[in-house]
Amino acid sequence: MKRVLITGAAGFLGSHLCDRFLKEGFYVIGIDNYITGDKKNLNHLNNNSNFEFIEHDVTEFVKIEGNLDYILHFASPASPIDYLKIPIQTLKVGSLGTHNLLGLAKAKKARILIASTSEVYGDPLIHPQTEDYYGNVNTIGPRGVYDEAKRFQESITMAYHRFHGLETRIVRIFNTYGPRMRLNDGRVIPAFMGQALRGEDLTVFGDGSQTRSFCYVDDQIEGIYRLLLSDYAYPVNIGNPNEIAIKDFAEEIIKLTGTDQKIVFKDLPIDDPMQRQPDTTLAKKLLGWEAKVTREQGMLKTFNYFKGLSQEELHKREH
Ligand code: NAD
Ligand code: UDP
Repeated sequence: MKRVLITGAAGFLGSHLCDRFLKEGFYVIGIDNYITGDKKNLNHLNNNSNFEFIEHDVTEFVKIEGNLDYILHFASPASPIDYLKIPIQTLKVGSLGTHNLLGLAKAKKARILIASTSEVYGDPLIHPQTEDYYGNVNTIGPRGVYDEAKRFQESITMAYHRFHGLETRIVRIFNTYGPRMRLNDGRVIPAFMGQALRGEDLTVFGDGSQTRSFCYVDDQIEGIYRLLLSDYAYPVNIGNPNEIAIKDFAEEIIKLTGTDQKIVFKDLPIDDPMQRQPDTTLAKKLLGWEAKVTREQGMLKTFNYFKGLSQEELHKREH
């Protein structure tokens, strides 16, 4: 049985990765310190004998008994509100945490895939974003803690690849959504869904002309899985190129949820990227992968998930 270690296992993407690898017949070890994750994302695996969970902060030395074939390093706050609230932890998990996982991969002779992000492109000056674009990041801005941690993560990963011959993979994930996102994590989809379900107005930041391109989680997990099994060590964009302005997206959500609330405008956060759309030509060519789930299909599944949350969860305030 092949053995895989997944960091950030109690988070949104990490928990879906655990499910996927278990389905593929792997023995899965999940690690998380719950800083932005939720135990309930893994509750369904409590009695699974092929799954093991370790509560641990990966910025501290990571000790794993036995062999490992693959490591997927997904531990990191991922929502702007989270990483603004815990900036030092964000920098540490991208730098010290990644260093620990690379060291572990080297010791175990395991292949490692690290979760990078479209944020390495910052507020991009080219559109759509291709992997050869170097990015436009404000190092010292409030979002810099995430962007630069992820850029460092890519650099140290390539250094381990070049210097130690480690088998490495880098996925640049573009905005991904679906069930198990934390309702109050501040990202736009849970924010709008929560507002619609609580009967509050939808908060659009700025004038809402900034764009994003939303990828459904099942597509994202498929892309990551294929990349891990590929032989390509350089970064690959995985995302859905279907781009929409945030104001239009709020209107779509109002229609989908049937709420009679309206849109209210709030200040645009500092360094909020104006345009974001992945160029996925490389993923198509290398992995035969492209996003299949339409926004309409994906949003309906996501809405059904949020509708199923308890009243207590719906009204829990974090920020
Ligand atoms: P998430 O917050 O739901 O999950 C992250 C998990 O990592 C949480 O369970 C958290 O508790 C855990 N974690 C954080 N720091 C840790 C530490 N020091 N030790 C152990 N565990 C720690 O976020 P997500 O959306 O699932 O994102 C997962 C990864 O994917 C992140 O690395 C993120 O940067 C990347 N990513 C996600 C998106 C997206 O749209 N979801 C986009 C780009 C990149
Ligand atoms: N946004 C918004 N209202 C909200 C939350 C977010 O208008 O309640 C905007 C945010 O300013 C950004 C976009 O939605 O332009 C996506 O934000 P998110 O935090 O989901 O992810 P980002 O792509 O910025 O990391």
